[in-house]
Amino acid sequence: MRIAFFSTKPYDRIWFEPMAKDYGYEIYFIELPFSEETVFLAKGYDAVCIFVNDHVNAQMIDTLHEMGVKALLLRSAGYNHVDTRAAKGKVAVLRVPSYSPEAVAEFAMAMLLTVNRFTHKAYGRTREFNMNINGLMGTDLYHKVAGVIGTGKIGQAMIRIFHGFRMNVLAYDPYPNSNLDVQYVSLEELLSKADFLSLHCPLTPDTHHIINEKTISIMKDGAYLVNTSRGGLIDTQALINGLLAKKFGGVGLDVYEEEEGLFYEDCSDEIIQDDNLARLTTFPNVLITSHMGFFTVEAMQSIAHETLENAYALENNLTLKNLVE
Ligand code: NAD
Repeated sequence: MRIAFFSTKPYDRIWFEPMAKDYGYEIYFIELPFSEETVFLAKGYDAVCIFVNDHVNAQMIDTLHEMGVKALLLRSAGYNHVDTRAAKGKVAVLRVPSYSPEAVAEFAMAMLLTVNRFTHKAYGRTREFNMNINGLMGTDLYHKVAGVIGTGKIGQAMIRIFHGFRMNVLAYDPYPNSNLDVQYVSLEELLSKADFLSLHCPLTPDTHHIINEKTISIMKDGAYLVNTSRGGLIDTQALINGLLAKKFGGVGLDVYEEEEGLFYEDCSDEIIQDDNLARLTTFPNVLITSHMGFFTVEAMQSIAHETLENAYALENNLTLKNLVE
């Protein structure tokens, strides 16, 4: 099998190159993102392998189909960046539904602890021998209320972590899991009671801007919000308004609704055109990271293995357990 691999970073090659050899697959690593301009580079390949900010529309699906590309191998769990309806019957869309839920949940907790205890600011201060701790006061997590929106694989890992901190955990999910040791409540109740809120639902038409002007107004004053799921879950303008009104104790964003073209790239020499992102970076209680919740050794190994297993299943007409219907 020949695979055209888009949005390649050095850390992708480390895992994929040796593993692909074991499968006998040839991978063409391309640094460019997958787009309407680059789709033609996939000519002559059996499959295209893409990441979270490679958007695939119906026209690109048709082009792939005409070129004989059989599969889109997603190096991600989320698939909101692919027009899966257009792909049906033309190109098989295969994802990696679970690689390390703990990687993302642990990162969400790291963000929460950072914005709460200002370790990011303390690090800068002590490096300059400013040992003053004014303005760095946090709040205990012990016995506080944690709210989890979406109790799938990552949400469950998050609940275990919150329990470890002896927090009282509330959850909201339209499909509650009765096996979980957690109290399900309505979205409104969760928003009104949570001191610390973590988002773990996928981006769908239902969840788009689930955090908006109205839902922010229901939240407790001083609440902490962490989003490691998808940027589109939060209405950025409403979040900025809330931050300006001092609604939040702290906010951690690993994802951002306009992250495409910015996240994963070094833009340090460029004039940033995105005013909302620029504004967000100015708040002392906001921590932004570049969609890296997944980024652990275990997760990268698992993504490479599962992606190549998906290719193997397709090539050998086996059951496609990770097919996005
Ligand atoms: P999952 O499919 O196991 O769980 C998603 C849960 O969300 C399900 O329980 C589902 O019922 C629930 N849900 C659906 N609609 C909802 C709604 N309207 N309100 C509340 N809950 C709703 O997915 P997962 O593996 O736990 O991943 C969750 C998300 O995390 C992914 O969709 C992806 O966007 C994101 N993610 C981010 C990173 C990162 O690096 N930051 C890495 C992996 C995944």
